[in-house]
Amino acid sequence: MAQRFEEAEARLFGDIYICRKCNARNRTKNPEKTSCRKCGYDDLRKKNDQFAG
Ligand SMILES: [Zn+2]
Repeated sequence: MAQRFEEAEARLFGDIYICRKCNARNRTKNPEKTSCRKCGYDDLRKKNDQFAG
């Protein structure tokens, strides 16, 4: 469903960011200017950073 589509987009475009607080996916080109659409937390990580640091 929509979730699978978002994951496919993340692989294609790499502009999916994950909220460090609630782990919601947020699609944005400007993560530093974007707050989580779900909880409003403003610390987002790149989706593919999950194995780094
Ligand atoms: Zn959040």
